[in-house]
Amino acid sequence: MTGAQALPQVIDGKAAAAQVLAEVREQVLGLKEQGLQPALAVVLVGSDAASQVYVRNKILRAGEVGIASLEYALPATCTLAELLDLIAQLNADSTVNGILVQLPLPAHIDENAVLQSVDPAKDVDGFHSENVGGLSQGRNVLTPCTPAGCLRLLKNTLGDLRGKHAVVVGRSNIVGKPMAALLLQADCSVTVVHSRSLDAAALCRQADIVVAAVGRPNLIDASWLKTGCVVIDVGINRLSVGGSSRLVGDVDYASALTKASAITPVPGGVGPMTIALLMNNTLIAARQQWAAQGTL
Ligand code: NDP
Repeated sequence: MTGAQALPQVIDGKAAAAQVLAEVREQVLGLKEQGLQPALAVVLVGSDAASQVYVRNKILRAGEVGIASLEYALPATCTLAELLDLIAQLNADSTVNGILVQLPLPAHIDENAVLQSVDPAKDVDGFHSENVGGLSQGRNVLTPCTPAGCLRLLKNTLGDLRGKHAVVVGRSNIVGKPMAALLLQADCSVTVVHSRSLDAAALCRQADIVVAAVGRPNLIDASWLKTGCVVIDVGINRLSVGGSSRLVGDVDYASALTKASAITPVPGGVGPMTIALLMNNTLIAARQQWAAQGTL
């Protein structure tokens, strides 16, 4: 016995996402055999380059798993009324099962009004207040894709999460808060850390599970971590080094490897899971709508 610490497990988000997508594809195939075709509408406003890439990837993945996709590209100058009108049409269209409005929206458009206008049954991003409220009540609702993906990775890695102390760094509506709610539902004890926390590092050092969703490159290093903890790095930050740029997370990966028992890399960790869970949400939404109509 040398007493040396075992090498940490690198949590492979690409493989986990492939598994989710394979399950979705199989179920979609079964539905198609019954004459049912799940469909996702993706709405993009403006020409933000990153948003265009995200939308393209979502449409590609949908095609791969047999989900039909409808893309609606509106100019950056479109009005709130025009956007709400399109969403109302999609809400009323029974061939559309999921509606995703790519964020961020141009500054002149009230994002909350748009998210609230999506039929909660088609809200595959899980951002409508009915779904947000349902999640906090522990009801079975459509759940935001990124935290749902993180939860899958944690369950794949740890199995039962019951009794673990989880620290979520970040309290945004799209990642931090729903992540905390999901971990609570999984019977973790949950601490949420944010920019006003007095000693974020000391709180993190108590954690069996750290989920970092901050948007600050390499903020969390080994000095924030308890030996043996599991680290999920949601952060996607573009760092320019010399003439080139590369993606890094919120966690200083090399440093965290010296303490963590398992960790997600960036890229290749949480990122691929987000789209996979979007496809899964579209499938769930379609099944629920058809069950409610008596077609399934
Ligand atoms: P937001 O900017 O909305 O939220 C960041 C949170 O971090 C806030 O709650 C903020 O606190 C907190 N914070 C800021 N500085 C500190 C600090 N020094 N210590 C502790 N907490 C701090 O970001 P998002 O939640 O939207 O995204 C977070 C990261 O995740 C980003 O890098 C984003 O790109 C990435 N992301 C990745 C996705 C994926 O698919 N992998 C999907 C979505 C996001 P306060 O509330 O007090 O301001």
